Amino acid sequence: MDFNQYQKEALKTDSYGGKGEITSLAFINKLLGLVGESGEVAEKFKKIYRNNNGVMSLEEKDLIIKELGDVLWYLSVISNYLEVPFSEVAKKNIEKLRDRLERNVIKSAGDTR
Ligand SMILES: [Mg+2]
Repeated sequence: MDFNQYQKEALKTDSYGGKGEITSLAFINKLLGLVGESGEVAEKFKKIYRNNNGVMSLEEKDLIIKELGDVLWYLSVISNYLEVPFSEVAKKNIEKLRDRLERNVIKSAGDTR
């Protein structure tokens, strides 16, 4: 499944209809959802570290995969609210990282390096 196809399918499950201004309740819901789901990923790992010294079971790995999918959903839907194809987000991210790698600043700090 490519990024745009995923975005199209994800939008079908947005209870707010898949679009809205960035000041809308629908968009704010997406921002909060992204943060919440990212937190769920971190929480799963926290418990793996705390309860089992970082040894992850297959069941825990499966739960993390599901939470990563939830993050993906919010990213794709937020992209649509910005009227950006999800493939463009992916493409620009890889271009940015490749550029940093080529300039040997991949390990540096700063958003605009
Ligand atoms: Mg979740």
